[in-house]
Amino acid sequence: MGTKEKSMDLSSPPGFVQLFEATRKVASEVAAAHAADVDAKARFPIETLAALREYGVLSAAVPRELGGAGCNMQELSQLCATLAQHCASSAMVLAMHYIQLACLARHGMESEFFRGYLSELVRRQYLLASMTSEVGTFGDTRSSICAVRCGDGCFQLDKDATTGSYCAHADAILVTCRRDEEAANSDQVLVLVRREDCTLTQTTSWDTMGMRGTCSPGFKLVSAGDEAQVLPGSFADSSAQTMVPYSHILWASLWWGIAAGAVAKAANFVRSQARQKPGSVPPTASRLAEVSVELQAFKQNWMSAARDFDALGDGPQGREELLSLGWALRLNNLKIASSEAAPEIVHRALKIVGILGYKNDSPYSLGRHLRDSLSGALMISNDRIAAKNASMLLVHKEAA
Ligand SMILES: Cc1cc2nc3c(=O)[nH]c(=O)nc-3n(C[C@H](O)[C@H](O)[C@H](O)COP(=O)(O)OP(=O)(O)OC[C@H]3O[C@@H](n4cnc5c(N)ncnc54)[C@H](O)[C@@H]3O)c2cc1C
Repeated sequence: MGTKEKSMDLSSPPGFVQLFEATRKVASEVAAAHAADVDAKARFPIETLAALREYGVLSAAVPRELGGAGCNMQELSQLCATLAQHCASSAMVLAMHYIQLACLARHGMESEFFRGYLSELVRRQYLLASMTSEVGTFGDTRSSICAVRCGDGCFQLDKDATTGSYCAHADAILVTCRRDEEAANSDQVLVLVRREDCTLTQTTSWDTMGMRGTCSPGFKLVSAGDEAQVLPGSFADSSAQTMVPYSHILWASLWWGIAAGAVAKAANFVRSQARQKPGSVPPTASRLAEVSVELQAFKQNWMSAARDFDALGDGPQGREELLSLGWALRLNNLKIASSEAAPEIVHRALKIVGILGYKNDSPYSLGRHLRDSLSGALMISNDRIAAKNASMLLVHKEAA
């Protein structure tokens, strides 16, 4: 895993406006400059993550009472969308980190250990990764084979994960597992495994079509630590109330960011065509107008989900609502629609730009955008999600 970064000045924690400005700057000045190299070498975006740490962006989701910015879903999704316009892999790392952070912040606040850990995360700008996948569970995050073993105040946990994004660069990994060795596959908990608690052995490679900078090969994890690192409650609840909403909304926002980045390139191309023939509107301009309709509708979809999620509040009633079929369907629909919309919009942008978008060495190149956006439908397979929706719709009668 990666090295610890410099400490934050806790006397003046940045608010959302400062974090947004900082993310915009990091996106356009750092992420944009390194995105092609990150993609070509399938390497971790170290420069971007270092810059985000420098500005305190990694603690945006930590509650204010623990020194973080206390950003809500609408704010976090804007940060992810902004970064994704220049480097989708960096944005995916940030989104996955926020998803794990939200699990700790929303389910660990009663625990002295987790409150202490979150305060430390603000100072040290720790990066959190996730291990839900496992050899033998076939993409079903709500099922585990491995089990945590607790005794004498300690835990032991070993896991064979198929895919572990940036695990080798993270300060800690949130790992799903069975509650104990007698528990059913679906009776899961989350365990915070810190870098110093584990050994990681890489088992597969990550030479993929896209999202290459997420560095997500398989890993064998062998770990041990304090029993207090087992997150209170069940993963059934933290998944429905936090992991799924944060994943689907933040992923949707970053997939939108990829599409927006591609449309921005297409718009630049159309303007350059217009400049070549002053006084005329190039034929590609009407294609651009058409794709901007799709982009706007896509944005409204994730923004409205983020707004409605924030409106639920963090009380018991809001948490209860998130367990409803209505919310499950809405979030699943958002995930399916956004992961399909992103590559479609990028493809439309490519058709506007033409050969200069198809070339890898042109300023209008859209290859990386298209390849990155194709991961959305696979990252928790849309077919798997659609099958769950099909069962829920048999009993859920309210209109969407
Ligand atoms: C960029 C990226 C980053 C990732 N990062 C992480 C990470 O950090 N940590 C982690 O744990 N995991 C990570 N994953 C893995 C992810 O969580 C899933 O485990 C993985 O994407 C699912 O792999 P799969 O296609 O083998 O799964 P499956 O869901 O088993 O799908 C295999 C095939 O079966 C089909 N299928 C499945 N169910 C049904 C059904 N009910 N009906 C019809 N067809 C079905 C699918 O369409 C697909 O064709 C990442 C994945 C990606 C793409």
